[in-house]
Amino acid sequence: MKVSRRDFLRAAAGMAGVIGLEASGLLKLQEVLAAPGAPSVIWLQGAGCTGCSISFLNSVYYATADEVLINNINLEYHPNIVPTAGDFAISAAHVLRPSISEMMDFNSEWLKEGQDLYFDLNSDGIVNNTDFVQLSQRGFILVIEGAIPFGSNGAFCEIASNLSMVDAVQQFGSAASSIIAVGSCASFGGIPAGNPNPTQALSVGQALAQLNIQKPLINIPGCPAHPDWLVGTIVSILTTGSIPALDSNKRPTAFFGNTVHNSCQNKSAFDSTFGRQLGHAGNRSCLTCHSRNDYHVANPKSLGSIGCLYALGCKGRLTHADCATRKWNNPGKGQEGVSWCVQSGSPCLGCTEPNFPDGMSPFQTLNGYGVDD
Ligand code: SF4
Ligand code: SF4
Repeated sequence: MKVSRRDFLRAAAGMAGVIGLEASGLLKLQEVLAAPGAPSVIWLQGAGCTGCSISFLNSVYYATADEVLINNINLEYHPNIVPTAGDFAISAAHVLRPSISEMMDFNSEWLKEGQDLYFDLNSDGIVNNTDFVQLSQRGFILVIEGAIPFGSNGAFCEIASNLSMVDAVQQFGSAASSIIAVGSCASFGGIPAGNPNPTQALSVGQALAQLNIQKPLINIPGCPAHPDWLVGTIVSILTTGSIPALDSNKRPTAFFGNTVHNSCQNKSAFDSTFGRQLGHAGNRSCLTCHSRNDYHVANPKSLGSIGCLYALGCKGRLTHADCATRKWNNPGKGQEGVSWCVQSGSPCLGCTEPNFPDGMSPFQTLNGYGVDD
């Protein structure tokens, strides 16, 4: 499924500012994608709702799904997109590379000598078996969506006949050059791992530890993950050749470095109403001296209302993500999203945090108390 990369480069240029990509980075991206060892992507789905795939397929800020997944990144396997299905598709994913077209191209340069040969990967002036070994052993980015159920020997989640998600993570995780856990289920267990977790679902990080696989891991949480977070991270890996800066939960700081609250359009309203109380003694216990219920009831809000939703249980102060500035559902390339949770009248549910959903429940408080009072 590897075709032209021109549109991807154009799209990357369009959103360069958003992900902090400078001109030199774009040149590097062009260089990396033009090389015969261009990274491939294999996307596995475990226990989840496929929402992150749907979110990703709606990506338009960076590029459309076609441009990103079909025309640009060498997507070897995705259960919802590849034209084949089931055992055949997953078998094809095992035969990673070189592809047939690459084999034909490689053959056309076989034993040729000279400068600037496309397949002279070790730059020794001749295309020979050494280059073929290098071509065959190049890595791929493994994207994992959904949690990994370990209960009943993995029988709760089979992605092909006799291939459980646990087995797939073992096989593909061992061979991947880097692994991206996309969505809260993959990053932290999410809803499938919520109490009482009957399938014994684990996050990707926990699964890799259980399987004794040590590979660079990036968590891109969210329920679902914003498409920009994933595309931006892949672009970053391609352009720099390394893992981007991560926080202590392995989330890219470019997207998760600040709280939702700090960039929320309602922060000044929060500061003028609740901030004075919260800052009174610098801790929560001080709030017990206030008749908080009366205070909050005196400032009524209902779901769907405009303004700070702290009194309805907003978790923005506890949650790291750039939703308030990036927003969701970009109408076109390079354009800001149209809205986000709080703007549409729903409190932030804390979906990008490791303790979502159990630790963020109840999602709404209806008694007038702030969630972290
Ligand atoms: S709506 Fe939520 S994120 Fe926005 S200011 Fe209020 S508490 Fe903070
Ligand atoms: S605002 Fe909160 S609940 Fe909504 S997508 Fe962002 S992190 Fe998740």
